[in-house]
Amino acid sequence: MSAAWLAGRTVLAVFAHPDDESLACGGTLARLADLGLRVVVMCASHGERGAHTGPARNDQLGRVRAVEMRDAAAALGIAEVILLNHPDGDLRWAEVSEFNAELLLFIRRYAPAAIITFGDDGLYWHLDHVGVHERTTTAVRILGPSAPPLYYVTMLRGIMPQIVAAARERGWTPPPKGFWSLEPAAFGLLAAPATITIDVGDWVSRKVAAILSHRTQMGIGHPFAQIDDADARRWLGTEQFHRADLPMTGNLVLERLCT
Ligand SMILES: [Zn+2]
Repeated sequence: MSAAWLAGRTVLAVFAHPDDESLACGGTLARLADLGLRVVVMCASHGERGAHTGPARNDQLGRVRAVEMRDAAAALGIAEVILLNHPDGDLRWAEVSEFNAELLLFIRRYAPAAIITFGDDGLYWHLDHVGVHERTTTAVRILGPSAPPLYYVTMLRGIMPQIVAAARERGWTPPPKGFWSLEPAAFGLLAAPATITIDVGDWVSRKVAAILSHRTQMGIGHPFAQIDDADARRWLGTEQFHRADLPMTGNLVLERLCT
């Protein structure tokens, strides 16, 4: 079956914080949107406790990040953003049954052809990401054989250290806390092997634009602020997934984008 089957269908991507969608699989979301799919991103929190730079006050950060999320969605062609208000930093344990119920509600309402979320490594063992993985997997499991295919996104091991090393060569220093203070080798370190690799080279400029839309998360000289087209294609031009081993109905979706 060709990719034409995808047009008009919905893909639901479930993440923890504004910016996860762009970093993890912004190219794939943009590519799906260009194929005529309705891409809906459900974000469990406003990211209100994230480290940040710039003038935003701490108590305003969630509101500011909601605006940034809208800008990223526009860059990627995301049709709808559902920004929930679960507590950033505590997504693995807080409001578990509420979030689970919301997931079931939205999956039933949108009847997506596929669902995308974090793998069990949460990209780099971020506990909020692991919690979203667990909640989404549970919801799909509850749906049983009527569930659509569930895809877990992972990062290629070794890419993040190259991005960080290139930025350091340009004089950038990682901030003491926040996303870029992480050990770059942690990305993808223990992820399950990807079985689906999607070429997003032609969508990489939109992916970078979406990442940069999350302005409070970008410090001066940020690794993505100065990335040139060749490096962006090399480092961000493919995205990796594997499909959950769960009962499902319907057709495979991301497999159709593989070449
Ligand atoms: Zn996150």
